[in-house]
Amino acid sequence: QLPLALLLSLLMGYIVWLATASRMSLSWQISYGINAREFMVYCQPLINSRSGDCDGIELLLRWHTPRQGWIPPDVFIPLAERQDLIAPLTRFVLSEVARHLPLLPTCPTFHIAINVAASHFHQHQIIDDLRRLWWPENPVPQLIVELTERDALPEVDQRVVACLHTLGVKLAIDDFGTGHSSLSYLKTLSPDVLKIDKVFTAAIGTDAINATVTDMVISLAQRLNISLVAEGVETEEQATYLREKGVDVLQGYFYARPMPLGDFPDWLSSHKT
Ligand code: C2E
Ligand code: CA
Ligand code: CA
Ligand code: CA
Repeated sequence: QLPLALLLSLLMGYIVWLATASRMSLSWQISYGINAREFMVYCQPLINSRSGDCDGIELLLRWHTPRQGWIPPDVFIPLAERQDLIAPLTRFVLSEVARHLPLLPTCPTFHIAINVAASHFHQHQIIDDLRRLWWPENPVPQLIVELTERDALPEVDQRVVACLHTLGVKLAIDDFGTGHSSLSYLKTLSPDVLKIDKVFTAAIGTDAINATVTDMVISLAQRLNISLVAEGVETEEQATYLREKGVDVLQGYFYARPMPLGDFPDWLSSHKT
């Protein structure tokens, strides 16, 4: 009896230790990867639904390790958020975009969107980082902070939101309608932009319930005078539907896949012609 119980608890302990160790090792690999320059910044064009012009880009992180190849953001971002490694990654994105800035359009209508985890809002960290790495040297193009909703947003400090607005940085709520998103953020965060998650775009013409949610989010944003970006646009049918509903900006494989930031100027000149 007793040895079996002891054996079982030892086994459980070992399993827990293994799980912790593998998580730890991935987070160690993230820190190592930042220094070893294993991360890259990709970007995906944001298309004006009326003119068809490219009105901006969203920056997306990519991680390639010599040991395991490509590791998807959906794997390393949540981990980085939990292990306090998300701020260094965001700083890397900011410094990379600052480095590429001479190659990017400088018109005031051009937007650069970066993903920022809610935890980075703590103690004005994001404001300090933006001041240091972005502002005020580079007031154009227009910067958009996309607040991801994996974390519970109520922690977000109102003063940080106010500060962003004073700095002229726009605030977007990412993946609106999924996860921790709630209607109350519309009031507490007064966002400039709502991003319709790709599950709702994918629902157009296929899934009645989600398509109804899409329509409701669109009319809600329009009544509150908030700009709309639809992500995950993969077909002409989706693009047409969203354009006719008045969604301002479209993003997805139908227009362009994410590409290295350095490739964007060439893509832009071929898109224009
Ligand atoms: P997200 O912010 O919702 O980004 C959009 C995701 O949809 C990207 O996935 C993009 O590659 C993908 N996507 C774009 N168009 C299409 C399409 O037409 N169809 C489909 N099926 N997918 C499309 P990705 O790059 O794998 O990033 C996943 C998530 O990881 C992002 O979702 C974002 O939440 C997070 N992430 C990526 N880069 C960063 C970053 O620098 N910082 C933070 N905090 N999070 C990031
Ligand atoms: Ca985003
Ligand atoms: Ca999104
Ligand atoms: Ca999404």
